Amino acid sequence: KARNQHEPEFIQAVQEVAETVLDYIAEHDIYNGKNILLRMVEPERAISFRVSWVDDKGEIQVNRGYRIQMNSAIGPYKGGLRFHPSVNMSILKFLAFEQVFKNSLTTLPMGGGKGGSDFDPKGRSDAEIMRFCHNFMAELSRHIGPHTDIPAGDIGVGAREIGYLFGMYKKIKNEFTGVLTGKGLSWGGSLIRPEATGYGAVYFAENMLQRSGTSIAGKSVVISGSGNVAQYAAEKVLQLGGKVITFSDSSGYVYDEEGIDAEKLAFVMDLKNNKRGRISEYADKYASATFFKGEKPWGIACEVALPCATQNELDGDAAETLLSNGCICVAEGANMPSTPEAIHKFHETKILFAPGKASNAGGVATSGLEMSQNSLRISWTREEVDNKLQEIMKNIHDNCVVYGDEDGYINYVKGANIAGFVKVADAMLAQGVV
Ligand code: NDP
Repeated sequence: KARNQHEPEFIQAVQEVAETVLDYIAEHDIYNGKNILLRMVEPERAISFRVSWVDDKGEIQVNRGYRIQMNSAIGPYKGGLRFHPSVNMSILKFLAFEQVFKNSLTTLPMGGGKGGSDFDPKGRSDAEIMRFCHNFMAELSRHIGPHTDIPAGDIGVGAREIGYLFGMYKKIKNEFTGVLTGKGLSWGGSLIRPEATGYGAVYFAENMLQRSGTSIAGKSVVISGSGNVAQYAAEKVLQLGGKVITFSDSSGYVYDEEGIDAEKLAFVMDLKNNKRGRISEYADKYASATFFKGEKPWGIACEVALPCATQNELDGDAAETLLSNGCICVAEGANMPSTPEAIHKFHETKILFAPGKASNAGGVATSGLEMSQNSLRISWTREEVDNKLQEIMKNIHDNCVVYGDEDGYINYVKGANIAGFVKVADAMLAQGVV
């Protein structure tokens, strides 16, 4: 803790894992006395670099770029890139640490990493985005590779940015390889990758609900965010017969009492992905909706909540409100959106709660499937990838049940942490102190 005292998000993520895994280590001789968790919390490598670029006015801008290569015990580093002004070492180390466990849970051979920049894409022209991505990759390219480290998208990094990043990597290295995932379909991408995180989170929620004898069909669902994860979580909820009633962004949320149907969702996708507009415009378009400026959607009564925006967006008070309104299931689409106080309340009340490292693992799992297709130089069909995704989400769910059973109540946090830990720890022990 002393060594990382200026990194609150990282400490929060480690503490959550330590609370569940330390007891398990103490009970199992093979892990005991090996300082295994102490080794896991120290990144194998943390790179910070200057990204200077020229904006549309001809002015030189300077941002900071990062790549955290956290753990490569079970495969090459794998994890997204985030472009957001809040990006710093603490945020990226928390994300990279979570990624190690998440990637382990997918059952695919991927280590954990994360990267990005404090660059703010909001209000930037397409040409500025391209110049930033190119200059960012000019340095990052030295540290990554298809057998070393394979970045993907995250907040602020979607299909457009992956294209610019890939173009520059290819130019510098003079090779066409699967060094990034989330690529366009015509140049090495996988079907279902854009949908995978949102779909996967809903598949996970459905697994939890079905185990409890119910399902998402007919349930009211509150979703936060309106980006990649939120959009496809909504699409899958609609396909399974649920009713989506909110979306949000950093300026507030919209509540549509009639429900956000497929046509309204198409409007949100166009607004956010093509026009890069604000979610408040949804309420201008649809009379059944109201916009709540600067607020989060947790006060709206629902049975299922899917936080899909960002870290620490659902605190203890919000959790209490959700519970008092009858919420029975929370599945995290985002990374660490619930604060420790919120998670405590969910566990105390014994509702179904899935931590992001389990329920949002569908994105990276499908990135793993993209890597396999790139290596084999083939493309699987939509159905093939979707079936594999569903199978992986079910495996993750069932693995959490095995390790998270507390007298009949499934503590999915504990289950995910221990199941993720065991595979990485075993590999580290086998490879010795390196
Ligand atoms: P996007 O950039 O597509 O969307 C992010 C959404 O969250 C936007 O609606 C954005 O609003 C909102 N948001 C971002 N930061 C804040 C903030 N500080 N306060 C309030 N709202 C905010 O990102 P993704 O959908 O890809 O990612 C969302 C979450 O899911 C992140 O936690 C990410 O790490 C996680 N995740 C994503 C995966 C993926 O495959 N994309 C995989 C696994 C996890 P605005 O437009 O106003 O910025």
